[in-house]
Amino acid sequence: MKIFNSIQEFNKVKDDLGKLSFIPTMGNLHRGHTSLVDIAKQFNNKIIASIYVNKLQFNDNNDYLRYPKTLDADIKLLEKHGCDYVLIPDDSILENIQTIKAPLKSQKLCGKNRPGHFDGVLTILNEFFRIIGPDIVVFGKKDYQQFILVRDFINDNNLNIKIIGGNTIRESSGLALSSRNNLLSDQEKVIAAKLYEALNDIESQKSNLDLNFVNSKKDYLESFGINIDYLISCDPESFQESYDIKNKDLLIAIAAYVGKVRLIDNLKLTKL
Ligand code: AMP
Repeated sequence: MKIFNSIQEFNKVKDDLGKLSFIPTMGNLHRGHTSLVDIAKQFNNKIIASIYVNKLQFNDNNDYLRYPKTLDADIKLLEKHGCDYVLIPDDSILENIQTIKAPLKSQKLCGKNRPGHFDGVLTILNEFFRIIGPDIVVFGKKDYQQFILVRDFINDNNLNIKIIGGNTIRESSGLALSSRNNLLSDQEKVIAAKLYEALNDIESQKSNLDLNFVNSKKDYLESFGINIDYLISCDPESFQESYDIKNKDLLIAIAAYVGKVRLIDNLKLTKL
């Protein structure tokens, strides 16, 4: 696997790399990330991952500063999984970067209490797309709202990129794999698994879906000391609150703090 430690290094050989499938990451890689490499392997392109903790998408500086960093292990893992290239830029990538304003629906769910988060996400991705010129990009649906916003951004700007979404990879407890899980104690991990339990409970009783039912799951989670940012039943495209499971598929999405660690998860419900 070839490692590019700067955009300049990458640019020198870019024209010789052929068609690329691109997987952006913030490092501290786990099976969720490598599942995206496995998806990329189904295509004939060379695979390039990036590792970059994007300051622009954090609105809590402490969260940014304590984001886990395991660069050597990340490189080994990517290599083992058959990734061809990894791009590890430094913060000079932010110099003269074109700022992207995310559309209104970015202000729902994860954007509601984190203003500017998705502006930061789309700004860095637009820059990576410009530098790398990928043919395919692979994103995880654990970050469902991000997946939809990136898909729309690609379509709205007629970027010639195919986007593929990978399913969420979980611990056996149901806890969605996340780099932030490394910041949880063993006891907090047990509590964090309740998030997926609550999503499943909602799914298994989807014929009773209404605000009261969703709120009862909030109460249940709060009884374990979990601090809910949002737990919502919504339209999977607009993210507008909805309980209309008779007529359409819905997204149940959650963001919550276990201790100081913010976790997200979601489950798609198919219509009745
Ligand atoms: P991150 O490093 O957290 O920015 O994530 C990089 C990519 O990996 C994003 O497309 C995420 O959606 C995806 N990802 C993170 N965790 C998981 C997971 N548990 N399962 C599948 N994809 C994931």
